[in-house]
Amino acid sequence: MIAKQKNDISYQVVRSRRATADIVIERDGSILVRAPESIPDERIEDMVEAKRYWIYKNLAEWRDLNATRVLREYRNGEGFLYLGRSYRLLLVANQTEPLLLKNGRFCLQRDLVDEGAIEAAKTAFRDYYISRGSERITQRLNYYAPKVGVAPHGIDVRELGNRWASCSPNGNLAFHWKCMMAPQSIIDYIVVHELCHFHHLDHTDAFWNEVDKVIPNYGERKEWLRVNGAGLDV
Ligand SMILES: [Zn+2]
Repeated sequence: MIAKQKNDISYQVVRSRRATADIVIERDGSILVRAPESIPDERIEDMVEAKRYWIYKNLAEWRDLNATRVLREYRNGEGFLYLGRSYRLLLVANQTEPLLLKNGRFCLQRDLVDEGAIEAAKTAFRDYYISRGSERITQRLNYYAPKVGVAPHGIDVRELGNRWASCSPNGNLAFHWKCMMAPQSIIDYIVVHELCHFHHLDHTDAFWNEVDKVIPNYGERKEWLRVNGAGLDV
């Protein structure tokens, strides 16, 4: 990844074996140019310049969506999402597990918060989503893989930065733990989207056609993720 600047626009370039270049606004608001190996730097600069108003417009939209980003406080009653539903937090004194979902409440070990380090509380949630996600997403993957007609090798749920999921050339799939905060229907869309990348690496019409075969209303789910994605955090 190479950092570049064109007038007031800072962006990063990542080159790969793709046919065409495009520009995307990442989940953290950074600008990324995805380019083929062969395209010269000047062509990329020209493209950024030509797309200047598109970039401004999309950055403004990104700011609007992220204005609703939630700043969590780890105190009693605070809501946390799991599979699209909000569960209130209950701080408990005697619990062996750091975090449990019990009787409609997220029960968090009080010590984790008392020590004042919210990192420990965040980690407890992350670990919870990773362990539940490994089971559930594997199950969804096993359900959808035959429908898409592919056979992924393995799956991993972890921190993935700006991506909801990724697909490696050896057939391993990774999913962001934050997927587990979204409703099941959205997780299914992310799973099918990733499986369809086994057929097509880029987001061409042929790719979306594959997604459409399995999830005909994928457009609504894709839009839900675009609008609500920033709110999925702990
Ligand atoms: Zn994709």
